[in-house]
Amino acid sequence: MLPLGGQRSGGSRKRGGTHSRRRAAPRRELLPLGGQRSGGSRKRGGTSMSRNDELFTRAQRTIPAGVNSPVRAFRSVGGTPRFFERGEGAYVWDADGKRYIDYVGSWGPAIVGHAHPAVVKAVVDIAPKGLSFGAPTEIEVEMAEKLCRLLPSLEMVRLVSSGTEATMSALRLARGYTGRSRIVKFEGCYHGHGDSLLVKAGSGALTFGQPSSAGVPEAIANETIVLPYNDLPAVEAAFAKEGKHIACIIVEPIAGNMNLIMPRAGFLLGLRTVCDKYGAVLIFDEVMTGFRVHPRGVQGLTGITPDLTTLGKVIGGGMPVGAFGGKRAIMEKIAPLGPVYQAGTLSGNPVAVAAGLATLKEIEAPGFYDALSARTKALTDGLASAAKRAGVPFAAQSAGGMFGVYFAAAVPDSYDAVMACDKARFAKFFHAMLDAGVYFAPSAFEAGFVSAAHTAEDVAATIARAEAAFSVLR
Ligand code: PMP
Repeated sequence: MLPLGGQRSGGSRKRGGTHSRRRAAPRRELLPLGGQRSGGSRKRGGTSMSRNDELFTRAQRTIPAGVNSPVRAFRSVGGTPRFFERGEGAYVWDADGKRYIDYVGSWGPAIVGHAHPAVVKAVVDIAPKGLSFGAPTEIEVEMAEKLCRLLPSLEMVRLVSSGTEATMSALRLARGYTGRSRIVKFEGCYHGHGDSLLVKAGSGALTFGQPSSAGVPEAIANETIVLPYNDLPAVEAAFAKEGKHIACIIVEPIAGNMNLIMPRAGFLLGLRTVCDKYGAVLIFDEVMTGFRVHPRGVQGLTGITPDLTTLGKVIGGGMPVGAFGGKRAIMEKIAPLGPVYQAGTLSGNPVAVAAGLATLKEIEAPGFYDALSARTKALTDGLASAAKRAGVPFAAQSAGGMFGVYFAAAVPDSYDAVMACDKARFAKFFHAMLDAGVYFAPSAFEAGFVSAAHTAEDVAATIARAEAAFSVLR
């Protein structure tokens, strides 16, 4: 295991930090434990229906499962998804006016908290000047320069509008650059919903027990070699057999789409060595980990340099921005410099880029990551202690502002181990916390996220509510 973050068992707690935390609005009292399931329910035709229920019923008429991305549907935990009306700092409010301490943070982007004044201001300032031109703008050059400065492995970078686009483009580029067609990915890693990557994928694909999607032609899926995460001998064996056909390895260098799984010591370095030996491209998919775990991503944390990196989430600060970049010799194969086609009408649009740049400026504040990591570790340590007191088998760990909670006796470090966690218990815990005003990811296979806006009091309140939830679970 890398000495990245806070596994429950080791390491000293570091509290405090130097970054300033904002509290724009007066705090409402924290909800009592075991508060209402959904506040503000009202009578409709004799039956009591919350506004969340009403919206969910309405949404399902015109949107498949009522949601625009599968995990939001709450299918693996049951119940009604919460429709959010507002977010501010560490909190979100649902359609019934109930407030939650939010540990999803839009699945990672909200690293400085929701509706951070500097990020909102950047958007409001630039929007009146035009939303999108489909032509170059100065602000996207600024963004490219900033990304290349923050991640030294990026010699060139191109902006897109989602993580999926970033990984799809990086794959095509790796294939175009090497002239090879096969790719290696790892079981339980999610890299967006591109055809080649939806093979034994994580996140929503895993949540619904369909890690491989219908509609992906067999011919494409056959080009994807899926190996167990953290299993270097399996990688070496695959390359020994098919190395000359393999264009790239794509990996979540810390996996966050099958809950949080750390790379074993030597795993990432081993991938680097194998790629060098066989002339394959090493792609770190840092869509989630980029600027989440460390100011220089996992590559900065480990000192292992990929050939290409994909980014998203934090670099858009809540707006749609993704990016892929890396070695100049590879990036110069992109059209119109080279033969690998890639394009986007809204790529680099000024409003999204402004939100991203404002977010990146915040995270560069001295002490930002020390404080974020300490707060996240305080949360996972506190949850693990509360579970222990309640006698519930539970483990937790963190990496920067990302964390994992597991209904298992020990922190898992493989796909198989994470699959063996108690999913039914997670669902009960999730609902107890939701009732108590704490919003965790509605799936046992997602990482959690803490923002710089989460205070020590938020963490303490979360732990107190978890303690009550654990005692019921036992
Ligand atoms: N790669 C990783 C590692 C991700 O976590 C995600 C999204 N969770 C993606 C790619 C896809 O990003 P998007 O949802 O923005 O398309």
